[in-house]
Amino acid sequence: MEPSSKLHRAHVLILPFPAQGHINPMLQFSKRLVSKGLKATLALTVHLAGSMQPDPSSSIDLETISDGHDLGGFMGAESIEAYQTDFRDVGSRTLAELIHKLDRLGRPLDAVIYDGFLPWVLDVAKQCDKLGVVFFTQTCAVNNIYYHVQRGLLPLPLPLSEGSVRVPGLPPLKPWEAPSYVYKLGLYPAFYDMLINQSTNVDDADFVLFDTFYELEKEAVDWMSSNLWPLKTVGPTLPSLYLDKRLPNDTAYGVNLFTPTTTSTVSAWLRRHPPRSVVYVSFGSMADLDPSQFAELAHGLALAGHPFIWIVRSTEQHKLPRDLMDSIPSEEALILPWCNQLEVLESDAIGCFVTHCGLNSVVEAICLGVPMVAMPQWTDQPTNAKFVEDVWRVGVRARADEAGVVWREEVERCVREVVGGGERGREVTESARRWMEVAKAAMAEGGSSDRNIDEFVEKLVSRASTE
Ligand code: UDP
Repeated sequence: MEPSSKLHRAHVLILPFPAQGHINPMLQFSKRLVSKGLKATLALTVHLAGSMQPDPSSSIDLETISDGHDLGGFMGAESIEAYQTDFRDVGSRTLAELIHKLDRLGRPLDAVIYDGFLPWVLDVAKQCDKLGVVFFTQTCAVNNIYYHVQRGLLPLPLPLSEGSVRVPGLPPLKPWEAPSYVYKLGLYPAFYDMLINQSTNVDDADFVLFDTFYELEKEAVDWMSSNLWPLKTVGPTLPSLYLDKRLPNDTAYGVNLFTPTTTSTVSAWLRRHPPRSVVYVSFGSMADLDPSQFAELAHGLALAGHPFIWIVRSTEQHKLPRDLMDSIPSEEALILPWCNQLEVLESDAIGCFVTHCGLNSVVEAICLGVPMVAMPQWTDQPTNAKFVEDVWRVGVRARADEAGVVWREEVERCVREVVGGGERGREVTESARRWMEVAKAAMAEGGSSDRNIDEFVEKLVSRASTE
């Protein structure tokens, strides 16, 4: 393989799974690679590329591949199974075409960095004579569990309520603290297959990267890198402005699949509230809460008595309990369809984040020193919530009933515990502040992730020039 150009040390193609929580970290990682002298091209599906607002100042080229659903993307597919098959079949073909096109245009690639959700990309990269780099967007803990399931080392089904789940490098887990696909077997078979099969061909990848940082998951990283793969942790992947400030133009993620409310509106509202008094509530880009859970959450927030900002996507707004919401003064409750979450979390006025525990949201809260109320819904969120409460001690978990509903009294209790000024609130707030320093240090010059990225770049450049 010839090095791609004299202008940059190597050229990589970045291919995320088409969802907000996957594009954000992989695009951010691309910016880091560019700052280390690589050229990066981001490949999005046609549907997503059409719905994102391009960032003209970006130093990253944008290309598209087809997932076979150019009009509606994965939300428009008749089933997740069908989408995954189409994405693999059509995606493999159009990705190979893209790689050949870039070769022809004199912008040859050296490596494809692909989302762990898309293991078939490794086959395409190898067929096209490129290095294959897998990038995992969930924690080492979660992927370690999936690995043990995939290899038959963690027998399923898990014991239903008693006993604990033992996976090396992890604390003992209650069964319901395992990822939902593992605990609630059979509920989402297509996602189960996709998540469990992430590790099937990792042994053949040239590099293994994780969107986490060493200090956050020391035990899991140590066990996995001694026993599974020589992995490198390269997070947190927030814009540099919120971490080390070394990348001057890196102030935002730059991709929004939903239109955020303007910053000035939100910050004017926040400025009218004292420090650490406001509760920020968001369940990310995909969660689909029951109307009854909406009602319990709304009542719980009202009972807790702290002003709140609640992100309710426009397709979900009909689930809000109208009478209650109309009775709360606008200075006490701000409902927004989407916002710039980092700007909100950074505000002094925020005292707590009620979150579904998507990994990006958890890491953002940690990096900005905001304690959490964890309300996990599915996928990796229950495991992230376990770590939030028991390992990192940066929040409290709201307990759900048998049907998975968190009642209003529980929402009230948790919010009061974190923002109310009691001992537990002080403990999690202090711990969040300490973790913020550790997270920032990981990405600062000479920090654990900074060193890992440097090492990755050096090895990649050297492999690219010799193969
Ligand atoms: N986010 C945002 N504005 C919002 C809500 C969320 O910018 O109003 C961003 C958030 O900062 C995070 C991502 O969307 O980077 C959500 O990712 P996460 O892993 O937390 O959850 P997912 O959407 O994948 O369930």
